[in-house]
Amino acid sequence: MPRPIAATIHTGALAHNLARARAAAPDARVWAVVKANAYGHGIERAYAGLQAADGFALLDLAEAERIRALGWRGPVLLLEDCFEARDLELCSRLDLWHVIHREDQIDWLSRHKTARPQRVFLKLNSGMNRLGFRPDAYRSAWLRLSGLTQVEDIALMTHFADADGAAGIGAQQAVFDAATRDLPGERSLANSAATLRFAPDNAAVRADWVRAGIMSYGSAPDFPAHDIAAWGLEPAMTLRAELIATQALRAGDTVGYGSRFVADAPLRIGVVACGYADGYPRLAPTGTPVLVDGVRCRLVGRVSMDMLTVDLTPVPGAGVGSEVTLWGRGPAGSVLAVDEVAHAAGTIGYELMCALAQRVPVSVD
Ligand SMILES: *Cc1c(COP(=O)(O)O)cnc(C)c1O
Repeated sequence: MPRPIAATIHTGALAHNLARARAAAPDARVWAVVKANAYGHGIERAYAGLQAADGFALLDLAEAERIRALGWRGPVLLLEDCFEARDLELCSRLDLWHVIHREDQIDWLSRHKTARPQRVFLKLNSGMNRLGFRPDAYRSAWLRLSGLTQVEDIALMTHFADADGAAGIGAQQAVFDAATRDLPGERSLANSAATLRFAPDNAAVRADWVRAGIMSYGSAPDFPAHDIAAWGLEPAMTLRAELIATQALRAGDTVGYGSRFVADAPLRIGVVACGYADGYPRLAPTGTPVLVDGVRCRLVGRVSMDMLTVDLTPVPGAGVGSEVTLWGRGPAGSVLAVDEVAHAAGTIGYELMCALAQRVPVSVD
């Protein structure tokens, strides 16, 4: 019998969550963002659930090849464009759309011999200061691109730094509006947080395309302000394992490396076949929620490479073989959002899903 740990990708949840993006921005088209191997879900595994997208947005050519190999003939957007000029050849062959964020990417396009005119999203740096042209350089980049025979269509795009937080999107949206006011073309501004929080009431944020990443996978971008239930999202990834041992602690006994957890009274604990080498966050502290037989328990002591330990007080009937849900869907309709585990560990749902380890077998339902 293999080690009792497995992940499941829920096709229906992906489809449901993508439909939530569409409902929040009914007049826009939806990019399903599948970078980082579909946020750890696996592009091939996620594809069936995301079929209703209008296009797939991703980062590297190998991922684009995988999407085409699955039979997707619609739009594919390269979010950081090419990393060197010679990549353009494969881009053209795969019919990829570009996000142009740097002057030399325009140079490359201008020298690219292609029979097929390219679709381009021109990225404005509206304040995040990672990628894109600053407002005072945006128009000249647009003019250069519009003069190229290689380019057939230019859309306008920016990315928000605080769509999930208190600062919101107002300042960056104003920069985008000012820089693009009299330029033609489609527009794309919103990531998941902006789609959920602002798109329903703001046509300029919905624009022509929204870019749904994390929400499609069933994580609330603004947790803990909202959880997935509040946004009507469903977990698209479940990580489950089993208890492989139990221990009866006496008062004063400790658990795990560093002896960090000390029982102050007799306590029954369960040992779970999941550790940081499976992608579970090592920094998850005592108190992090774990479901045992669908019942909420707390992690105790340090997470180790292959195991973690839980307090079985809420579920006295549990024993070796009991089902443990690290995140996602548990038995009998129970749910543990990845966001809760991430928050306890001082990180975000994105990181946990992306970090699901190779050694965990994954299936699709
Ligand atoms: C990753 C990414 C997104 C998706 O962000 P989420 O927060 O996961 O929705 C959207 N736009 C760009 C440019 C990205 O890089």
